[in-house]
Amino acid sequence: MSVSTLDRFTLEHAVALYGIDAWGNGYFGVNEAGHLTVMPTREPERAIDVLQVVEEARRRGLRTPLLLRFPQLLEAQVQELTTAFAKAREEFRYPATYRPLFPLKVNHRRSVVEALLRAGEEAGLGLEVGSRPELLAALALPTPPGSLIVCNGYKDNAYLDAAALARRLGKRVIVVLEKLFELDRYLARARNGAELPEVGLRLRLHARGSGLWEKSGGFAAKFGLTTSELLTAVERLSSAGLADRIVMLHFHIGSQITEIRRVKNAVREAARIYAKLCRSGRPIQFLDVGGGLGIDYDGSRTSSDASINYTVQEYANDVVFGALEVCQEEGVPPPHLLSESGRRLVAYHALLVVDVLDVISPAPAEVEVAPEDNAPAVIRDLAEIAATISVKNYREYYHDALEYRDHLYSLFRLGLLSLEDRARGELLFWKIAERAVAFAKTAKLVADEFLELEQRLHEKYICNFSVFQSLPDHWALDQLFPIVPIHRLNERPVHRATLVDITCDSDGQVDKFVDLKAIKPALEVHPCKRGERYYLGVALAGAYQDPMGDLHNLFGTVHEVQAVLDPEGRTVLTGTQRGDRACDTLLRFGYTRRGLLAGVRALIARAEAEGRLDAAEGATLLERYRRALGRYPYLA
Ligand code: PLP
Repeated sequence: MSVSTLDRFTLEHAVALYGIDAWGNGYFGVNEAGHLTVMPTREPERAIDVLQVVEEARRRGLRTPLLLRFPQLLEAQVQELTTAFAKAREEFRYPATYRPLFPLKVNHRRSVVEALLRAGEEAGLGLEVGSRPELLAALALPTPPGSLIVCNGYKDNAYLDAAALARRLGKRVIVVLEKLFELDRYLARARNGAELPEVGLRLRLHARGSGLWEKSGGFAAKFGLTTSELLTAVERLSSAGLADRIVMLHFHIGSQITEIRRVKNAVREAARIYAKLCRSGRPIQFLDVGGGLGIDYDGSRTSSDASINYTVQEYANDVVFGALEVCQEEGVPPPHLLSESGRRLVAYHALLVVDVLDVISPAPAEVEVAPEDNAPAVIRDLAEIAATISVKNYREYYHDALEYRDHLYSLFRLGLLSLEDRARGELLFWKIAERAVAFAKTAKLVADEFLELEQRLHEKYICNFSVFQSLPDHWALDQLFPIVPIHRLNERPVHRATLVDITCDSDGQVDKFVDLKAIKPALEVHPCKRGERYYLGVALAGAYQDPMGDLHNLFGTVHEVQAVLDPEGRTVLTGTQRGDRACDTLLRFGYTRRGLLAGVRALIARAEAEGRLDAAEGATLLERYRRALGRYPYLA
């Protein structure tokens, strides 16, 4: 839907402008009040009003930045995945089972994992871990009986010990051998008579994924056994009398696979290896197809990095059918299927809400700087261009203005211009630039120069959060997230802005936004009103961002709140989690509270001794410092 500036701006326009229906998977909408909503059952009449949740959280002392979690979306996503595989198995009469595994590294938050385990109980949802600490968490979690814990990542003896412990405690643990050195350790344990968990073998497939994580697959991948290493591993385990311990083949060709063709190729290649091993008398129970099931972050349904060109049903069909067809061709029984979809299960459930603190405008809206007759020539020249620039001459006049601007700064450096004239000259230049961009955009093909200029002319909305803590994948990988105002969606967003965070690093910004056709260089936003908060929501933030976030500038984790719809359709806040205080982030770098207070006490004692403070003032200052340590590091 195109939005003309003459039309009345409706809720439908807002939904179309921000692509909410395209990326929302049916879970997001806009209500009559113009607020963003979350619909766990995809029914507009049963919706959570996001602004109301933020306001209620504020009443409970939780300010923005605030991470909202909607656990019912976790349930819905488990349902989406397991239903798709159930349908595929039924359609193709797949004779073996399918079980999902949740990779803990995608979101370690206990409440998230427990919600997934509850939702996946019937489907036998298990866990995938990539390190010993993750295994220590997994073995204590209430996994459904008979479900699996699959151990990936490089393993030392302590990791294998933890796997053996989990097995003794009644968990079914499969240790995936990624490299041959792990096999040596495993066989050494066998010789020492230690407890031995079952084994999976990770394949290094020829097939690769696609998109930002493509390098995880293919011959140069960090993990996995080559074909000859695979045969060696099978041989050595068999000669040690441990052939029956090999229960699984595993592969993972990367996260966020954007093209379904890549999934099909990988499944067929792995199924062929499975079938060949079965035919050579080495029956294997499970084929684990790893993660990679993607999310349509930009809603375009294409193979662009921020999208996927397939549905979950298509993914399930291709996994099931691919495995079945190869096994039928080879005349072996198909394996029980496992997948390690993380992103798909958890991305939707979290929405980060940030408030806009201020706006940086390179070109103030109203600049009428008519020069007096005795104004410096450079000012008069710029004013003349500003007054006469038009669609016919904008290119030439803009280039002239660039020269005058350089001249302006040279004169200033030589002491020939006042500060006031420098300011007037700058304002005039930006006015000209603004007009030049407007004229350039009337052309069929806009020159790169003016596209870049437009980018520099966008306002910057200063948002109260840290990109490094809350959207690390945007900073590190340019991953796109849908961003939407959570209110005023019944009002035309007349400004376009990029977002900057409050860290003191120029990388701390968001200047790429999802769009159905391209990547937008700026987001449509509303003008901020004095005395009113303006909130933006970053959606689909539930996968990977929590564990990858860092402590740049010591901002720390943000406050969190969980919101669910009760059976009557009322929104209930079910859990809150306070973010780090300043003293928490300081502690991670060795600044204990006690040490910090001792340092400040010493300063106060010296000031008192020198007569600069009396005892009462000293006590007040110490108390102020103590309180500051206990505060949320984000801006109040
Ligand atoms: N399994 C393994 C071995 C992984 O390395 C990953 C992540 O890259 C996953 C599963 C989860 O992938 P995704 O979140 O794309 O489903």
